[in-house]
Amino acid sequence: MPEAATPPKPLSAPQKAMHKLGLRRDIDLALHLPLRYEDETRIVALRDARPGESAQIEGVVTHSEVQYRGRRQLLVTLDDGSDTCTLRFFSFYPSHQKTLAVGARIRARGELKGGFAGWTMLHPAFKLAEGDLPASLTPVYPTSAQLPQAYLRKAVVGALSRVDLHETLPPDALAALQRQTRVSPRLRDALQHLHHPGPDVSLAALDDRSHPAWQRLKAEELLAQQLSQAVAKRERDALHAPALPLRREGLHEQLLAVLPFALTAAQRRVGEEIAADLARTVPMHRLLQGDVGSGKTVVAALAAAIAIDAGWQCALMAPTEILAEQHFRKLIGWLEPLLAPLGKRVAWLTGSQKKKQREEMLALIASGEAALVVGTHAVIQDQVVFDRLALALIDEQHRFGVAQRLALRGKSLAHLEPHLLMMTATPIPRTLAMSYYADLDVSTIDELPPGRTPIVTKVISDARRDEVVERIRAQLAQGRQVYWVCPLIEESEALDLSNATATHAELSYALPGVMVGLLHSRMPVAEKKAVMSLFVEGQMGVLVSTTVIEVGVDVPNASLMVIEHAERFGLSQLHQLRGRVGRGAAASACVLLYSAPEGGRLGETARERLRAMVETHDGFEIARRDLEIRGPGEFLGARQSGAPLLRFADLATDGHLLAWARETAPIMLTQHPELAEQHIARWLGSKAEYLKA
Ligand code: ADP
Ligand code: MG
Repeated sequence: MPEAATPPKPLSAPQKAMHKLGLRRDIDLALHLPLRYEDETRIVALRDARPGESAQIEGVVTHSEVQYRGRRQLLVTLDDGSDTCTLRFFSFYPSHQKTLAVGARIRARGELKGGFAGWTMLHPAFKLAEGDLPASLTPVYPTSAQLPQAYLRKAVVGALSRVDLHETLPPDALAALQRQTRVSPRLRDALQHLHHPGPDVSLAALDDRSHPAWQRLKAEELLAQQLSQAVAKRERDALHAPALPLRREGLHEQLLAVLPFALTAAQRRVGEEIAADLARTVPMHRLLQGDVGSGKTVVAALAAAIAIDAGWQCALMAPTEILAEQHFRKLIGWLEPLLAPLGKRVAWLTGSQKKKQREEMLALIASGEAALVVGTHAVIQDQVVFDRLALALIDEQHRFGVAQRLALRGKSLAHLEPHLLMMTATPIPRTLAMSYYADLDVSTIDELPPGRTPIVTKVISDARRDEVVERIRAQLAQGRQVYWVCPLIEESEALDLSNATATHAELSYALPGVMVGLLHSRMPVAEKKAVMSLFVEGQMGVLVSTTVIEVGVDVPNASLMVIEHAERFGLSQLHQLRGRVGRGAAASACVLLYSAPEGGRLGETARERLRAMVETHDGFEIARRDLEIRGPGEFLGARQSGAPLLRFADLATDGHLLAWARETAPIMLTQHPELAEQHIARWLGSKAEYLKA
């Protein structure tokens, strides 16, 4: 009998968390750079301290007690031999009290406040004073709740000691980089420095990433992107797609004729760019970017019309069922009646579908009867086989894993590559996009349809809910309608629901005589439709919804959007939601309701994010600020899904490095293909394959 293989050792919780963050290889850890640093390298004597200074002190606990002065608090007196300092905690656990027991020798770090009552520190970081002081600053890494800093720090140190960091930049490229940035440390030195900077380094240069070590890392990252895209482009250029010439008097024209509006100049321009691509046998690989409400869906529908007209199938995908419904309902409404006379149908594919229905859909798709296939990831699962897929349209591409884009390949029985059009509402400026995406053509809709009114945005504490209800009343009195969106808690649909149900009850009670509707994703479709049509027709004054989706319809009479727990939404999501009002002539407003954690204040980051929503309406600017405020840690999720986002480089400030990378990549590919391959593998690892999609 063959011996049973030993099963792989199960991963510990922090190991799992590291994997989840994409930290699998030593090089991944080496390239996982700190968000900021803490200075634990020195101890300040209280005698020498200045009020307001952030400092580390060390002393013996001489007193510790829990007091009730207004609020329950833990007060600890630390004596460092030169003076005493009171450490004050409003939230604390028994374990904290144990560590801070009288007689313990403690190091505490925080902002020192002077004043009448002597030195105090509010909520300092503290630990037992053991061992020598570290020789370098302490890195603080982007991490997740399951992955403690201390564990991650150790893992990084281990990885740095093992990892192979031989130079992959050819000498010429390095010399050119040095001309751009003056000094350029070796990769190993740059990483060593960024993980463990000495105590005398300029924190400002580390912070704003102007330090030569940062420049080096950013340049390397950009080069990896450019290389992988250049490789992908070479491969793509060798593939074939069906040519889809624009037919006169076909679906395309019919669709234009039934649209209730004329296209904007920008829509016409990008439409022509896309049509020109479709007419060729080189697979299209194009990004369509435009702010929320700029009208990307119509452009997509027109592209679909061209493909269908040429006798082929078109797939339309959004990252979630919710978004699929939201974004495509209108499009289908326009196209379906035009398809029917041709004997063609629209097929839906979603994860939540019943087996029988799904099988029907799969048959429609395989036979070619479904000219348009709409849905989520379900569209690209293995069982889905297209008869003649010629065009894939992907909405919100930044949320779509590149792996999924890759899976589109080989989906068609016709054995041709489909044309690919990706849409995004979080654009980067056109000129940057064109140089960054070496493997992607970019079309930009830079104009909103006419007749939109500006939306006033207000950030209001949930404690002032009553005032918001007053506002709703005022809008209703003017004959307007109101959306109220409850947060999307991804882990728990049940929670979503209870929250929305409670809000619905509250508003129904507070607004007697007004029809208040409730929509949530678990409702049967027929019921959803009924609620929606009451709102569209204007009988329903307020629509409470669990998710973004269902508010996808256009109701120009809606003038107020209230978003509950706005702090839980991504900025771009808020921007999308806000775009649901201000579609008519009425002055419109968006209220961002936030709830501070119990008893406390909303964190600075959260406040800054909501403030950004008030200050700007430009989707690009909002995306930029979101990244800036959240910091590179937040990129991890995106990196995981394979989206070609940059972790370190910032296209807005690192144009010179991008220019260098763009020049270097093709030369390196031709003259140093092995180095190029090593460089891509190091930076993108298994994701390199994804980036080709
Ligand atoms: P997004 O770019 O955010 O996907 P949509 O395609 O959903 O935008 O369009 C937003 C709204 O604007 C829709 O109601 C759509 O029907 C409408 N719309 C699109 N193009 C025009 C246009 N040229 N004129 C007027 N309204 C338009
Ligand atoms: Mg859209």
